[in-house]
Amino acid sequence: MQQYDFAIVGAGYAGSVLAERLASQSGKKVLVIDKRPHIGGNAYDYYNEDGILIHLYGPHIFHTNSPEVFGYLSNFTEWRPYEHRVLASVEGQLLPIPINLDTVNKLYGKNFTSEELAEYFKTVGEPVDDIKTSEDVVVSQVGRDLYEKFFKNYTKKQWGVYPSELDKSVTSRIPTRTNQDDRYFGDQFQSMPLHGFTKMFEKMVDHPNITLMLGTDFKEVKDNLSYDQLIYTGPVDEYFDHCFGKLPYRSLHFEHKTLNEEWHQPVAVVNYPNDNAYTRITEYKHLTGQEHPTKTSITFEYPQSEGDPYYPVPMPENAELYRKYKQLADQQENVHFVGRLGTYRYYNMDQVVAQALTLYKKIVGADSLADVA
Ligand code: FAD
Ligand code: UDP
Repeated sequence: MQQYDFAIVGAGYAGSVLAERLASQSGKKVLVIDKRPHIGGNAYDYYNEDGILIHLYGPHIFHTNSPEVFGYLSNFTEWRPYEHRVLASVEGQLLPIPINLDTVNKLYGKNFTSEELAEYFKTVGEPVDDIKTSEDVVVSQVGRDLYEKFFKNYTKKQWGVYPSELDKSVTSRIPTRTNQDDRYFGDQFQSMPLHGFTKMFEKMVDHPNITLMLGTDFKEVKDNLSYDQLIYTGPVDEYFDHCFGKLPYRSLHFEHKTLNEEWHQPVAVVNYPNDNAYTRITEYKHLTGQEHPTKTSITFEYPQSEGDPYYPVPMPENAELYRKYKQLADQQENVHFVGRLGTYRYYNMDQVVAQALTLYKKIVGADSLADVA
């Protein structure tokens, strides 16, 4: 039996970053196992049968404020500058989201200046003493009407519960602006890997010390593997056979389509807060910069409670249940839990990279992220 220093479950960001660092910087022999037949985790992209680069698990847009994370990933890809813009379909119009000056002026037929909009928000915003929920965040900033038109029903569709039941962190992801900035993210670094995410992952794991075992569930092979330490990026509750009960994850059904037209919609993502069973439609060519004169590929996202675990659900009772698993996880010797599922955190890609680099730093005893990235 081949002996490995590390077995890593999951070939997404968490698993691939750790495999790359341990193999290339620490000379460790690493086995990476993923039950899917490909690397990249949820960020996996590929050319579909019509030759269009699409994201199999929904739209992934890279953005970060961390020079370390951006610098680290730049070892494996060149970048295409891309600033994400999203429109929301509300009352028959396509309006910018995050809510900004143009959103309000177009929705209400007004001609507010930025200063007037700031004043308007003060009059319609509902005072909330202690902002706890995702409803509190929005109604305190923009008032109930905008909350109901843009957030209430989208959130119910996406999460199966209203914003009043979700932690404030969920809608806090979306800023409110009084200027005309219509970018979805405000981060310092915003760009897409020039040749796609999967190509970037291929470069990360292309090392003689890394062995890939794809299409394999860890549960089925674990008794036949020999390794010193385990890095686990799958769902933490599954690792412990759900001994405290199941942690809720929100899932999605993706409907991918190719249309015989050059463009389908004006921007990469259009949100449908109030109509349809899907939350949003993504058109990939806007994201990737790919040109095709007669075809375009799009994806509809239908939220569901059953299926692959995509989103931890930020609610107080789930945080409480996760704490129990975390305690158990902390007691394991030579087993490390990391990533969106491994630590039950609603993390973006860059946050998972930072978390994985931090774990690598801990494993090798380095002082700072800059020393390991
Ligand atoms: P994952 O990518 O989920 O990787 C975990 C891997 O572990 C999976 O490949 C899984 O197959 C494998 N695995 C699990 N259990 C086992 C087992 N028992 N045996 C073998 N393998 C196993 N982030 C952004 O920054 N920008 C975005 O625009 C963005 N959009 C997103 C859109 C959607 C629809 C979703 C769902 C997420 C989005 N994200 C986005 C978040 C991003 O996908 C995650 O932050 C990131 O992919 C998490 O990486 P990870 O390695 O923690 O987990
Ligand atoms: N949201 C909303 N309406 C929108 C966009 C976002 O209500 O038009 C809320 C919703 O609860 C969503 C959350 O804000 O789940 C975070 O949005 P984001 O676009 O960051 O979600 P993700 O891309 O992670 O699915």
